[in-house]
Amino acid sequence: MKYISTRGGMEPAPYSEILLEGLATDGGLVVPEAVPRVSAQQLESWRTLAYPELAAEVLALFATDIPRDELAAMCRAAYSAENFVAEEVVPITALEPGISLVGLSEGPTLAFKDMAMQFLGQSLEYVLARSDRALNVIGATSGDTGSAAEYALRGKDGIAVFMLSPQGRMSDFQRAQMYSLLDDNIHNIAVEGVFDDCQNLMKALFEDLEFKRAHHLGAVNSVNLGRVSAQSVYYFWAWLRATDALPESERAGFEVSFTVPSGNFGNILSGYTAKTMGVPIRRLVLAANENNVLDEFFRTGVYAPRSAADTHATSSPSMDISKASNLERFVFEVLGRDPERLAAAWTELAQTGRIDLSSEQPRFESEFGFLSGASTHADRVATIRSVFERSGVVIDPHTADGVKVAREHVEPGVPMLVLETAKPAKFPEIVFEATGERIGIPEHLAGLLERPQRVTEMADDEAELRAFIAARAVQR
Ligand SMILES: *Cc1c(COP(=O)(O)O)cnc(C)c1O
Repeated sequence: MKYISTRGGMEPAPYSEILLEGLATDGGLVVPEAVPRVSAQQLESWRTLAYPELAAEVLALFATDIPRDELAAMCRAAYSAENFVAEEVVPITALEPGISLVGLSEGPTLAFKDMAMQFLGQSLEYVLARSDRALNVIGATSGDTGSAAEYALRGKDGIAVFMLSPQGRMSDFQRAQMYSLLDDNIHNIAVEGVFDDCQNLMKALFEDLEFKRAHHLGAVNSVNLGRVSAQSVYYFWAWLRATDALPESERAGFEVSFTVPSGNFGNILSGYTAKTMGVPIRRLVLAANENNVLDEFFRTGVYAPRSAADTHATSSPSMDISKASNLERFVFEVLGRDPERLAAAWTELAQTGRIDLSSEQPRFESEFGFLSGASTHADRVATIRSVFERSGVVIDPHTADGVKVAREHVEPGVPMLVLETAKPAKFPEIVFEATGERIGIPEHLAGLLERPQRVTEMADDEAELRAFIAARAVQR
């Protein structure tokens, strides 16, 4: 299996090469030359596998240049009992008639990014060792995405992490989560400024190609194909669990739908990948919050990224996006996998600020299975409350965006699976507003706030940051 660029300008490369890259060399996104297919019999034969074993089966179809036993060991290490609290790794919980939750937040940072990051941490370490290379990951975080990367990469050989965060802008819990990691290869840097200042510092370093090469800088952002492929595994898992109770004769081809709280379009794209591979998925319902650029795209076919001023800070903050970095992969499919048409569309986007695919929009549902919806703060509060009242389950605000939109799209006889993208313990204020319940830190994290912390405070100063990185970057 080789990987190519959506814009057609990259030599086909194997999985282990593209794991280290965010973008393709021509500025496009990396996609498989042909998406691997799984027959109904093969899918059925995976029913008895535990999550790490299923992950190895699915990922082997992507990572054809990594030996099978190595891949299986990586999956066992990534999806271990030490990392994931639930014995099944991904538990399924029935919420109300027709709707169940797919529990993706059992990992160390209580959010779904652990699902892909833990595998990426294992596979990056392996690939770097094999090619005698080093990687210094630079990131900017306002709280949540950075911690998943740090937990996945802590203690890994040949890798260091430099994570910029805005001083004094994160919750006590978020700070404790990140700054209590004392591993030598994890460097938390609290910048005097806001998140945008952190992001600008990071961009400046990446634009200096000489510095970037000299210090082996890289990122593990949401367009990384290692993450997208690892996320497709839980769509297989959720389908298998949703059909366990059916008579054997009715399982093959039995359709389920998913609703996915979405931001950068990574998670739901993995669902589309699983559908293409052969998981019987009827609908992929995209749930957005007030930042509804993707809901607008799926309803009208017009993609118009927002300005920073038009991007709202909401109570489901991990979905606060102005543009959706993975959407290019979907548009590539819509345009018949034609790199010239895709490149033309992105030129149009750069020149006019929008892409008009309204003539293709009817196919989004009929051919690709996509639908969408959006919600507001009031919807989230009402949904957290009604789910709690009906089922006793407390959900987080991102998952609430999902349940709200899922309820609008449930069809008789088709199980609707909502992806739980974070645990409510990360968002105690809105849970209290909705339910009157004071939700504490989960038992296995008790004492987190009291643990010693290590962080370097720094002015918003590029020269100081360069010197700090140059002195601590891993080399091989
Ligand atoms: C990252 C994130 C999302 C959005 O996922 P995408 O893959 O960017 O669409 C939704 N909810 C939570 C809690 C997240 O951390």
